[in-house]
Amino acid sequence: MRFKPSTRPLQDCNIVSKETAVLQHFFLIVNRKSQIVSGNFTTQHSTLITYNSLTHSLMFNILTIDIEDYFQVHALSSVIKYEDWDKFECRIERNTDRILEILDSVRSPQKVQGTFFVLGWIAERYPDLVRRIQKGGHEIACHGYAHKLIYNQSKEEFREDVKKAKATLEDITGNEVIGYRAPSYSITEKSQWAFEVLVGEGFKYDSSIFPIRHDFYGMSNAPRFPFIISLNGNNNFEFSVLNFEEQQHRTTSAPNNLLTHSLINSNSLIEFPISTVRILGQNIPISGGGYFRLLPYPLIKKGLKRINEVEQKPFIFYMHPWEIDPEQPRINGLSSRSKFRHYVNLNKTENKFKRLLGDFQFSTVRDLIENCSTA
Ligand SMILES: [Zn+2]
Repeated sequence: MRFKPSTRPLQDCNIVSKETAVLQHFFLIVNRKSQIVSGNFTTQHSTLITYNSLTHSLMFNILTIDIEDYFQVHALSSVIKYEDWDKFECRIERNTDRILEILDSVRSPQKVQGTFFVLGWIAERYPDLVRRIQKGGHEIACHGYAHKLIYNQSKEEFREDVKKAKATLEDITGNEVIGYRAPSYSITEKSQWAFEVLVGEGFKYDSSIFPIRHDFYGMSNAPRFPFIISLNGNNNFEFSVLNFEEQQHRTTSAPNNLLTHSLINSNSLIEFPISTVRILGQNIPISGGGYFRLLPYPLIKKGLKRINEVEQKPFIFYMHPWEIDPEQPRINGLSSRSKFRHYVNLNKTENKFKRLLGDFQFSTVRDLIENCSTA
């Protein structure tokens, strides 16, 4: 699948941000844009779907937390092997509990809920932690089992990894897990076959695409905002960008929940790419992880506000529990780049995170999907 950058001017993307305190209704229009997909040419059409917002007045964004420990991240994998994970002090419980506490303490105007992409390896060892997250009203989604980069696995290895992780999480929570995020955003141009595996394993959405240039992840020409990936067989894909529009465009047709709509029965996934700001023709990452730790908060706030207010889209934010843990054991033998990426500003992140929660509205991916209806 080749993504073409959208040629649609920003001011055409009408949406949201209505200053009313009641339940709002507004629309998402799905435009299917023509594109070359593995030599085939898809047709243009659009589908109208409505979105019912939460009860608050501002646009809500999506908060995601990747539940893995400090010794499991890819930046450290040159010195820490999977086989040795059990030898390290696990700090995932205390750090995740701290995040839950922070989320619990924020009321803006209601409790903040997020989507937690949990690693199967962690869930197996800390099932009570998964239950505590679930009990807090958050969504449990899947981060695979062993945190192996997708493009370093065969299709079958990948299938086994997600199958095992999904089953583990579903056994613990008693709920169907519908969302997936790849370790280190490793769905790239060379591992797009992963979409077919995810659809086959029953996932309804994915949040693995980072539309930037990076040394080990990224699809810089992918759409910057949520879109639908449709699988047409023989590894052919189409994508449809989701665009929000206002209530006055509403039709009289009865809405159907998007989850119960064609996505459930068709070969489709909704993709939630990590948010970026567009500066001088480049996608600049600001919405989580090391970028969030590195950049000054006022700059991040300005960029995220721009996404909400100018581009009129929700943004997708991500964080890891180890990023609020400056006391974590230091790992020797890392390259200076990996050291910088992992340890920069760990002592400032919790405070920044609290400011972010105070400045923006957040909810789960599932909330957004469940509030989308076909018109
Ligand atoms: Zn991860």
